[in-house]
Amino acid sequence: MTRLLADVAEAAALLRDGALVGFPTETVYGLGADARNGAAVAAVFTAKGRPHFNPLICHFASAGAAFEEVVADARAVALAARFWPGPLTLVLPRRVTCRVDLLAGAGLDTLAVRVPAHPVALDLLRQVDRPVAAPSANRSGQVSPTTAAHVMAGLGGRIAGVLDGGDCAVGVESTVLDLTGSGAVLLRPGGVPAAAIEAVIGRVGRPLPLSAAAATRSLRSPGMLLSHYAPDLPLRLEAEEVAADEALLAFGPAPLPGAGALWNLSPGGDLAVAAARLFSGLRWLDAEGRRLGLRGIAAMPVPGDGLGEAINDRLARAAAPRES
Ligand code: AMP
Ligand code: MG
Repeated sequence: MTRLLADVAEAAALLRDGALVGFPTETVYGLGADARNGAAVAAVFTAKGRPHFNPLICHFASAGAAFEEVVADARAVALAARFWPGPLTLVLPRRVTCRVDLLAGAGLDTLAVRVPAHPVALDLLRQVDRPVAAPSANRSGQVSPTTAAHVMAGLGGRIAGVLDGGDCAVGVESTVLDLTGSGAVLLRPGGVPAAAIEAVIGRVGRPLPLSAAAATRSLRSPGMLLSHYAPDLPLRLEAEEVAADEALLAFGPAPLPGAGALWNLSPGGDLAVAAARLFSGLRWLDAEGRRLGLRGIAAMPVPGDGLGEAINDRLARAAAPRES
């Protein structure tokens, strides 16, 4: 049963416990999860029914809290001062000390951060007192919700609660701006117009159309193959045996014997656990494998149901032949 919540403290307690809570922002309702809790973040993808992992925006009560997790340059500081709280999302490099779970950022070295302007959202974020990862609170492929009733209609029965804060004022999503390169790039138009951003930091680039971008190997937008973290070591899928000079990404109670290094996504065969351990596992096997001089990573088959679809999608991307 999904409860309609009126009490911010109760919603905050649920989030801190790892439960999923819909909450109002000035743009659309978000589906919140404790961003430091990999299992909670995995549950977001399950609840939304997303067939692949895309990076989620992390919400904070203040710019100070956000910039504890990402590296803010002068442009980010100026934009935060001008537009936060507000419908602007900044993509910035993760700090080495960043405590946000890798799954929330889909394994990327970057993180999208925002301080929403809705008073209920700010109150909630203050009370949770940790980053809250939140995509729009709708099932994958449906339109973004701007009322608590929309969230109930789409996700009722799949999440712990919805905090009712009335209708969203903006109704369009936040503007997403990539500041990880020397030139700022508009990844998604939204609540803050590009011209208003340009008035603060100067020219903002637009992403190249997909085909042109692919040709220049400069993809940045999420969901696009090359933007995602892929291990340096070659990855092979559906392994039925493993060599001593390979690292093994295992799944289930019977990892293949004889690997040079082992990371088991879930000894219990639980796909949500596997999702939460996927990106940390790939990174660890890559580093450990290179340290030991192994020649590659072999991945055992992962079932394709539920979150397995997203896990297999991500593994296929990581195993795809490199274009550069
Ligand atoms: P939604 O989940 O509907 O709120 O959409 C989130 C938007 O932020 C999507 O367009 C994501 O692709 C984008 N986004 C989130 N994190 C990143 C990131 N690290 N790099 C680039 N874009 C991001
Ligand atoms: Mg959405």
